[in-house]
Amino acid sequence: MSALGDLIKTTIASDGPITVERFMELALAHPEHGYYMKRDPFGAQGDFTTAPEISQMFGELLGLWAAEVWTSMARPNPVRVIELGPGRGTLMSDALRAARIAPEFRAAIDVTLVEASPTLANIQYEALLTSGAPISWCATLGEAPEGPAIVLANEFLDALPVRQFARASGGWRERTVRLDESGRLAFGLSAGAEPDIKADAEDGAILEVNAVGHRLMFELGGRLAKQGGAALFIDYGHAVTGFGDTLQAMRAHRFVEPLDEPGDADLTAHVDFAAMARSARAAGAAVFGPIDQGDFLRALGLDLRARTLAERAPPERADEFEAARRRLAGKGPGEMGALFKAMVVANRALPPPPGFQPPPARSA
Ligand code: SAH
Repeated sequence: MSALGDLIKTTIASDGPITVERFMELALAHPEHGYYMKRDPFGAQGDFTTAPEISQMFGELLGLWAAEVWTSMARPNPVRVIELGPGRGTLMSDALRAARIAPEFRAAIDVTLVEASPTLANIQYEALLTSGAPISWCATLGEAPEGPAIVLANEFLDALPVRQFARASGGWRERTVRLDESGRLAFGLSAGAEPDIKADAEDGAILEVNAVGHRLMFELGGRLAKQGGAALFIDYGHAVTGFGDTLQAMRAHRFVEPLDEPGDADLTAHVDFAAMARSARAAGAAVFGPIDQGDFLRALGLDLRARTLAERAPPERADEFEAARRRLAGKGPGEMGALFKAMVVANRALPPPPGFQPPPARSA
């Protein structure tokens, strides 16, 4: 068991079971032992690989997306470009480089990186040293400077802790983490029922509620409605709210048991896009999508970009771009194109953002 696992067991032994949400929060963000607090988890040597780490094309296309959104916002200067959970800083680095083809946008950009992990903030600092853009860091969205904003968030919502409720004897009870008879961490149920949850389901059904995500979407939706701008969320998850336990832990590119190695394995839950959209709309913002990541990236020109890069690359590297294109946009097993979705929260005055426009009507 990990150091954090032992700490959690001691806490439960003295104070009783904790909620799944609290467990996830500790596993990811405990200041000393939390998963993101002490390491660089990305890439072949790490635990998982994200889209910006697969190919420069991902960040480049998002940079061009941001430039078009800025134009539709009537080109505010400055424009806050805010990234939530920037990981290694790769997406922002690629986006800023691509944005050079829109020099007026590039000159108006003021970057804020919202990052909870000091270790990752240091890696981001190194990655962006030569980017030439003004960059500042903060730990929460609420601390980001005011003003019209373009927000980017890839695999951020899935890293927020979720509450889980289980259907038992006709009511809902919150799922907890407790100690079993042999002193191991195990799932349990809270004693009290949750009369506020009206959903009906079979006994044993699990309902996930990303309360932290709801608060964030409400705050962000309110900000964009008042101050202008748009936010792009890309993540894996479902378009329609449903039942199911989606908590999953990953270490060295393999799934492990979620309770086994808190702090040493990545822990995520699928994003319920419909639920996130409700909170953003409740705050006065418009929502576009979700649509499949594959459709989104291809609408932004992924295929052409992959061909151009392959033609310019030395022959031994040419295949790399087609392979990355397929991994990002393909919809087959092991590919991200349909598993991941893109959704935009925006000020209601903005037109549909690039990638979300309806196809042109055909004339006879
Ligand atoms: N966007 C990056 C990294 C995704 S991993 C990529 O695509 O590669 C999730 C990121 O969100 C990490 O940088 C993690 O430290 C950060 N993070 C997780 N929870 C956070 C929170 N509550 N506030 C701010 N950052 C958070």
